[in-house]
Amino acid sequence: MENKWVIAIHGGAENQSKEELSETKQAAYEQGLENALMAGWHILKNGGNALDAVEAAVNSMENNPLFNAGKGGSLTSAHTTEFDAAIMDGKTMQAGAVAGVQHVKNPITLARAVMEQSKHVMLVGPGAEEFARDHHLELKADAYFLTDEKEKSLKEAKKEASVTGHDTVGAVALDMHGNLAAATSTGGLVNQLPGRVGDSPIIGSGVYANNDVVAVSCTGDGEGIMRSNVAHEVYALMKYKGLPLKEAAKEAMTIYRDRIEGDRNFIAVDPTGNVEFSFETSLMFRACKRNDEPTYLALWREEEDSWEKEE
Ligand code: ASP
Repeated sequence: MENKWVIAIHGGAENQSKEELSETKQAAYEQGLENALMAGWHILKNGGNALDAVEAAVNSMENNPLFNAGKGGSLTSAHTTEFDAAIMDGKTMQAGAVAGVQHVKNPITLARAVMEQSKHVMLVGPGAEEFARDHHLELKADAYFLTDEKEKSLKEAKKEASVTGHDTVGAVALDMHGNLAAATSTGGLVNQLPGRVGDSPIIGSGVYANNDVVAVSCTGDGEGIMRSNVAHEVYALMKYKGLPLKEAAKEAMTIYRDRIEGDRNFIAVDPTGNVEFSFETSLMFRACKRNDEPTYLALWREEEDSWEKEE
């Protein structure tokens, strides 16, 4: 079989109408997705590994104020930015995660450092920040993470006493050596309580990768995704029920729906290079590129049909 490499990314999923998202903003999202996708794809094309590719793609979105991760991270009710991120290597099944960390420019890189340079899987809060400092990761002052848009969102959320979220970022990849990896990074929810942690850094909830089966990165209602262990559920349905990715994805979207509310959305790639974009919102910022084939990039649900499904 011909070697395949593929990367898929998401920049979050949400319920918006086309009228609510200006054309300029749509174009900016498309450019942001394209930049992130290509950052990861070039690594894969040059024979690099899936782990480097997902980190590079996520870094790109963390540095883009449009996305709710790194620079564009949402504000908590206390007007702070707190980041959650996790990365998993499907080859070794090693994983690294950080939660409630502040000031770190690229939380996914910190998660990877935790995986590779500590004896732990997850570090939180000030301990995670200290680890970043000790390992010479780039730190930024509070002002770096503040954008007018995020201030506005917090003000609106406070007025409505709501807690909302979207635009978490993530990437999954298969490299030409057959390795899978997944990464997810988020600023959490607008107006969330300080200290709140979502699904994104929880291995098996917001992220999971195993070379034999699948790599998954989620976005959506963290409290629901956490309880339904969406990423691991996709894995388990494929592994133990023998379902192909597409069917496992469908079932993971609906399982325990009667008891667990909230939108579940995710991207996944299997060892043969099948990619699935599963979402129940009106839009998911998403893109994918396999081998030298043309890029697939889409925002709206209606564009779903233009993505070729399993082979
Ligand atoms: N899942 C993220 C969280 O709960 C938010 C999102 O993906 O929109 O923190």
